[in-house]
Amino acid sequence: MKLYRKTASELSAMLRKRECSAAEICKDTLARIHVAEDRIGAYITQCEDVMQQAQKVDKALAAGEVLHPLAGIPVAVKDNISTKGIRTTCASRMLEHYVPPYDATVIEKLRRAGMILIGKTNLDEFAMGASTETSYFKKTHNPHNTEYVPGGSSGGSAAAVAAGETILALGSDTGGSVRQPAAFCGIVGLKPTYGSVSRYGLIAYASSLDQIGAMGRSVHDTAMLYSLICGYDKMDATSVQKSYPDFAAACSADIRGLRIGVPKEYFGDNVHPAVQAAVWKGIRLLERGGAVVKEISFPSMEYAVNAYYIIASAEASSNLARYDGVRYGFRAEKTDSLTDMYVKTRSLGFGDEVKRRIMLGTFVLSTECYDAYYKKALLMQRRIKQEFADAFQMCDVLITPVYPTAAFQPGALAEHPLMRYTGDICTVPANIAGLPAISVPCGMTEQGLPIGMQITGPHFAEQTILNAAYAYETLCGGFPMGGAV
Ligand code: GLN
Repeated sequence: MKLYRKTASELSAMLRKRECSAAEICKDTLARIHVAEDRIGAYITQCEDVMQQAQKVDKALAAGEVLHPLAGIPVAVKDNISTKGIRTTCASRMLEHYVPPYDATVIEKLRRAGMILIGKTNLDEFAMGASTETSYFKKTHNPHNTEYVPGGSSGGSAAAVAAGETILALGSDTGGSVRQPAAFCGIVGLKPTYGSVSRYGLIAYASSLDQIGAMGRSVHDTAMLYSLICGYDKMDATSVQKSYPDFAAACSADIRGLRIGVPKEYFGDNVHPAVQAAVWKGIRLLERGGAVVKEISFPSMEYAVNAYYIIASAEASSNLARYDGVRYGFRAEKTDSLTDMYVKTRSLGFGDEVKRRIMLGTFVLSTECYDAYYKKALLMQRRIKQEFADAFQMCDVLITPVYPTAAFQPGALAEHPLMRYTGDICTVPANIAGLPAISVPCGMTEQGLPIGMQITGPHFAEQTILNAAYAYETLCGGFPMGGAV
């Protein structure tokens, strides 16, 4: 029946009407993985108990229990989110054999809701990258054209959703890693407000920017998953004490009077004409739906990438200091002193990109450079936050591209890490300011590669950006399930 092609909302309704069982959904998804995974490479680890999980849900449904709407729906999880008893690698040699003794808070929530954990997805090592090429284990391919990258760092999650190897997925977004791969793979990706989803059990990259996000093939699906994972958690000191509505139930396509700001700096010469055209077409469609469009300016945008890479690397250098070969993870053999063991463990356990960030982070935090780089980056962060606050006086949401181009080919920028960093220009501002932002598919390039449109809102305005995204999806007649594979 090709159940794997359906949305979570459709499957949820079918389950309740007994038109299908969780076991059938899972069997179909596993069969799809069997066919597609060789070409896509989305997963690092596949769960062995998928059918058992499904049978449990079917039993509860048969017994007449009232279950969460997402019960029985397959979900894939980025492999930097801790899963009890299931290896969690961060796509690094350092954690190749690491099996967490506890579940992340978001995983507890998925399990409690009866979602079916399908497997752990590939990523750039420790979530550092934008193409999923820096994984120690494998490359993931874009389902629309396997010669292109799926984006990153949550490339495995995005590719799995796009290819039908899962229905929903979790990613993490420190500087765009949910939104950019969603854009490259033609799906929806939501990076929530900082503090709305617990980071407990998310293996840290840059703690002040990291946020777990939801990925799906429709806005409603993405809203359902977000509604499940958000909420206060005492295990995360940065979690915000606040109650949240049911975002999916409240989705409305009525955007009459919605004030859309379009910051001109996001449409510079670096942004490919096909991307500019597709995003503008999306904006015009929303305008026809009753939104009011206003061009605005965001002058500090040009410093966002610099500020991001300084702050993110500084925090990464500190967070990754724990991988010393002593407590857990990889340890180099044949070493002749403690220092030698540290050096060899970290030299062999981390890949080049991770080492580059650790060195950059250590450098900007050093006594000589702290004022010149780190402190300035924090000042810049303040200015960016202020500019967003000013913009949201005049507008309800901002609409921009997600990435300056569509997906690129592997190795395209390997020689130029700096060029790769500048590609993050459209996504990092939301992380720097802690704002929610969503990526929705808004067109294709001539080569048939998806393009994404980003909708950003004020803190905790998830409902507003979801509604704008939902209105867009409705106006354009729904997002086709992409993927030539
Ligand atoms: N591409 C960005 C980086 O490499 C974003 C990564 C992320 O969001 N995890 O840091």
